[in-house]
Formats: sequence, C-alpha cells, structure tokens
Amino acid sequence: MITTLLDGNRRFVKEIFDVERDYFEDLAKMQRPTVLWIGCSDSRVPVNTITQTKPGEVFVHRNVANIVATNDWNLSAVLEFSINHLKIPDIVVCGHYGCGGIAALDEDCRDDRYIPIWLNNAYKAKERVDEKIAGLRIKLSEEQRMQLIVEENVRLQLEHLREYPFVRNAMEEKKLSIHGWVYDMTTGDIKVVQRDTVACVEF
Ligand SMILES: [Zn+2]
Repeated sequence: MITTLLDGNRRFVKEIFDVERDYFEDLAKMQRPTVLWIGCSDSRVPVNTITQTKPGEVFVHRNVANIVATNDWNLSAVLEFSINHLKIPDIVVCGHYGCGGIAALDEDCRDDRYIPIWLNNAYKAKERVDEKIAGLRIKLSEEQRMQLIVEENVRLQLEHLREYPFVRNAMEEKKLSIHGWVYDMTTGDIKVVQRDTVACVEF
C-alpha cells in the first residue's frame, strides 16, 4: 500500500504538478483558502474530491465524527489561525451518513480508552434525537435514526463552534458564516443541514 502512495505521487508530479506548474509555484509562495472544512477522518469523505476543489482552496481539520470540542487545542489553533490570520469567511462542519464514530455512540467501547471520551462531545446529539423520536411516538428504522443523529451532531458541533468568543465576534461582525452539511456516501450528494443565518443574507 505504501508503495502505491509513492507511485501515485510520481504520477501526480508528472500528470498534474508539471502540467499546472505556474499554479503550484504561486501556491508554494502563499495559501489563500476561503473555506475551513471540519470533517470526519473517514477515508471515504475526502474533501477535495467530493467538492472538486484544488490544493490551496480549502483549509482542513478532520477528526473522528467531525467534532468541535472547545477543550481541543488542536482545533482551537486551527480556528484561530483560520479566522485571525487567514481571514477565512466560511466554516463548514460536514458529517456523513454511515459514520462509524456516530454509530459507536450506541456501542459499548469499554476496551477503548480514548474513543468514549472523545465521543462524549457528540452524545447530546443522540439524546436529542432519541427524545424527539420518543416524544413523537414514531417508528423509525435504525438507519433513519442514525441519519438523524448524524444531522443533529452537525448542528451540535455548530453550537460548540459558536461557544468560541472569537468565532461569535467574527460572525457578529459579518466576517464569518458557519454551515452544517452532511455527505451521503451512497449518492455522492451533500445535504445542507444548517446554514448560518446570523452572518449571511443571500444563499
Ligand atoms: Zn465518520
């Protein structure tokens, strides 16, 4: 597998880099991404492929279940750099149906040390959906329930995002919009789950 990656890199240099050398030489001097993507680490959700974007266009942070945890210094530094230095105007939190991290909210991960701690940041999404289903007395398939939890988790992580004072300030100053999306691996489509209404006027 590792040699496949290096073979792929040689093909990239020959077929893409050398062909678009001017673009990559400019890019080597400076990056000007206009979107911060907070997505799941899942190998099936590669941002540049599913959004047809090029190197230099999207600043990326990925973790298990696309979580925004306000005690995560890794993400905090990414956010600070994105907003204060790169002046990125849009942040997307993108979940995906069939997310193993979200499915693990139902599982007993007793043998794992870190996964349950990490997933605590998404647990409220499951609680909210289960309460809603119970309250409405409707019968959903397990897949439908999971899809709702994936969507609710995206909304929850947007809430966490707004807990950062510098994120809130940038939104109030209309310098930043935040968006909640979900990627469907079975169709390739992205569904807009929540769109920031504070900072955006037009869709
Ligand atoms: Zn996932």
